[in-house]
Amino acid sequence: MADTSKGKKLLKELGYTKQNYFETADKAERKAIFDYAKGYMAFLDAAKTEREACDYAVSAAQAKGFTEYNFGDPLQAGDKKYFVNRGKSVVVFRVGEKDLEEDGIRIIASHIDAPRIDIKQNPLYEDSGMAFLKTHYYGGIKKYQWTAIPLALHGVIVLKSGEKIDVRVGEDPKDPVFYINDLLPHLGGDQMAGKAGKIIEGEQLNVLVGGLPYADEEVSEKIKLNVLAALNKQYGVTEEDLLSAELSAVPAFGARDIGFDRALIGAYGHDDRVCAYPALTAVLDRETPHTVLAMLVDKEEIGSEGTTGIQCKVYEDLMEEISLALGANFRKVRAHSMCLSSDVTAAYDPNFAGVYEKQNSAILSCGTAMCKFTGARGKSGSNDANAEFVGLIRKMFAEEGVVWQTAELGKVDIGGGGTVAKFVAQLNIDTVDLGVPVISMHAPYEVISKADLYSNYKAFLAFMK
Ligand code: MN
Ligand code: MN
Repeated sequence: MADTSKGKKLLKELGYTKQNYFETADKAERKAIFDYAKGYMAFLDAAKTEREACDYAVSAAQAKGFTEYNFGDPLQAGDKKYFVNRGKSVVVFRVGEKDLEEDGIRIIASHIDAPRIDIKQNPLYEDSGMAFLKTHYYGGIKKYQWTAIPLALHGVIVLKSGEKIDVRVGEDPKDPVFYINDLLPHLGGDQMAGKAGKIIEGEQLNVLVGGLPYADEEVSEKIKLNVLAALNKQYGVTEEDLLSAELSAVPAFGARDIGFDRALIGAYGHDDRVCAYPALTAVLDRETPHTVLAMLVDKEEIGSEGTTGIQCKVYEDLMEEISLALGANFRKVRAHSMCLSSDVTAAYDPNFAGVYEKQNSAILSCGTAMCKFTGARGKSGSNDANAEFVGLIRKMFAEEGVVWQTAELGKVDIGGGGTVAKFVAQLNIDTVDLGVPVISMHAPYEVISKADLYSNYKAFLAFMK
């Protein structure tokens, strides 16, 4: 009898099966997977908001010899540049030697904002022995997940003078942290019988920030005053200065290995830093004949709006300025450009099997996942990339030995989720979604596989080659 049956041989020839990247990687590749994760985890802890991620990207770019670009600056092949938009989004790019009109720009678009609890403009009050900050959450969250966990405060306070004060409290082990109260189970009968979306309401997401009364009999709100005094002592601000502040409560815990074998990473904000970091490092690390551009944008979680979201003309302007500086027709450049819209997708979770269609879901550790289309219920709102473009990207990945998979976010009639893909495609740029599968997406602590992270990095390198 032959070692392998005829049917088995034929199946290997004709069939398609996903591969677990850990399983296919040799010893050196496995080491690379684990080593790369360390840099990513340091980035996660350094950059919990879009401002911090933007600062991190600028420092990392400068360390690799990239210099700041402003509209109107001359450009030539070999230039390594970064462009900062309002301190909240950044584009890192290399100018290649290939003809821009013929070769276009290769874009990797990711986002650096993440769901969180934003502080309102007139936030501070006290009640029943406690001082709180009122909030309005940012992005799609399960509100109940954000109670009873340690929170850190990140952001800026802008004074009337224009001076900007950075706030970052709760990350150093010596710092205090903050907290959102929940109800004890003993009194939670009615709460627990309600719908999960309602068991904590938006106006109950108040952040606990103090409990010490100011020593003065004449004052009525002593705890609030004491918090104001502390803020004034540390930052030189008054209550009115909070009107022009941008403060966010984010989970105070850091990125950690998950599991006895350390295969996975738990952290706040994998969505979408797990794509932003590989996009950034790919462009920083690798020389390429193409003009390549890593976009780290803001506001994806609230619809890509505003001056820092990808719908803002600033990114189109930048690409037009690059084209102008190189004497290229912008319409021709766009027509030959291509984009990986790099955002996370849902990893198949056997604990919630009912919402997934397993055969077309991203399986953890089987590599970065390409979503030809997003949307749901008739592909509504989806970019839906052309088969020709998907075929081209597939060829690039095959040539570089990238382990990857395709994915759809949930069952047809259940799922749904948009990305920046459709906004880039509007510019006449072929675009497809590609990103890392995430467990518990949008929770305060999300989980990804180190194999998928590294696969994403390798996919970007292949795209740039
Ligand atoms: Mn995302
Ligand atoms: Mn998201």
